[in-house]
Amino acid sequence: MKVFINPGHAPNGNPDPGAINEFFRIRECDMALSIGELVKRYLIKAGCGVKLLQSNNLYGESAGENIIQSANDWEADIFVSIHCNAFDKTVRGAETLVYDLIGEGYSLGRCIHAQLIEEMQDIDGTFPDRGIRTRSLLAVLRSTIMPAVLVETAFIDNDIDALLLMNHQQEIAAAIARGITDYWQQFQG
Ligand SMILES: [Zn+2]
Repeated sequence: MKVFINPGHAPNGNPDPGAINEFFRIRECDMALSIGELVKRYLIKAGCGVKLLQSNNLYGESAGENIIQSANDWEADIFVSIHCNAFDKTVRGAETLVYDLIGEGYSLGRCIHAQLIEEMQDIDGTFPDRGIRTRSLLAVLRSTIMPAVLVETAFIDNDIDALLLMNHQQEIAAAIARGITDYWQQFQG
């Protein structure tokens, strides 16, 4: 299985760091990259081929390696974008974004989301499950030719969620990796 991992936003935050937690001085681009690197490590151990690309260029709109073209040209079996959410500092929880509720991306999203929520609620029983949501206009979901999901791991602008992101990256990454291998087993079976 070939898995394409796309940590959200720009490398080193330049020009786009994503969301920021000013109190803890952490940025979404860095959290997404470190979780993505860990997911990559787990998946390689599980025997997957993995390509990781963080780039400001989603689909030819700016400089840098083109994420969607790279995933499509590499003929990835699965595409997973990793992000952190932000709203008004009070909202918490994880949500998984998929193109629609009928395709393979939804099956992949259910597998990843179930593992992520189980893990996060093991760590913190109050962690909210915000569910699986459709975003048919998101380029990484719409223009990738393989099943694709975007995981919003937690709200980086909320201090409780930010602490989870800082202190539990191994668990978050392992849960995402388990979701991916769950999907693959289901898909093959
Ligand atoms: Zn983001």
